[in-house]
Amino acid sequence: MNEKVNRIEKYLDQLFPNPHCELIYHCDWELLLAVVLSAQSTDKRVNSVTPILFQKYPTLKDLKSADIKDLEQILRPIGSFHKKAYYVKEIARILEEDYNGILPQDRALLEQFPGVGRKTVNVVLSELYNYPAIAVDTHVERISKRLYLAALKDGPYEVEKKLMKKFAKETWGKRHLQMVLFGRYHCKAVKPNCEECLLRDICREQKKRK
Ligand code: SF4
Repeated sequence: MNEKVNRIEKYLDQLFPNPHCELIYHCDWELLLAVVLSAQSTDKRVNSVTPILFQKYPTLKDLKSADIKDLEQILRPIGSFHKKAYYVKEIARILEEDYNGILPQDRALLEQFPGVGRKTVNVVLSELYNYPAIAVDTHVERISKRLYLAALKDGPYEVEKKLMKKFAKETWGKRHLQMVLFGRYHCKAVKPNCEECLLRDICREQKKRK
């Protein structure tokens, strides 16, 4: 298993030596909101609406008192816009009123925000504070299962625990980003780019095809 994990790590390092988060943000709470908005959407779509959102409502105060219909209109292109407009307004209100506008660096507190789950907290803590965490999104889950790093029946939390055991703690944030990028640009859900992939011989997908 270690040898296989080493190969995967080496390949990810080769493809993405300096991975970075593709969501555009300028401060901690903008990242939190961008990650919340990215649920069931793509970073590209989120990046097409957040500049409009944050330009029109540049502060938490502005966002918490924004007209919900206007927020919905701005967020319409990313889907689930009723729910997401509510999350944006409510997160802004809680941050402003209960935390003086300062994002808490605490998992339990962050998970109490509406629309914020374990994956979102992992992305935020890892991206902003270099906190060791592996956020399991749809890409990370799919790749982990294809490469036998996790079982098919595993939910996101089981996948996360298995990845944390396999990868060195100091690389967790980087591995998450690399797997997201690998899933986004190479190992796509539909029509993965297998011809060019160097992990074909250890991939469940290939076995299935044979
Ligand atoms: Fe993904 Fe294809 Fe590579 Fe398997 S062989 S990891 S499905 S790109």
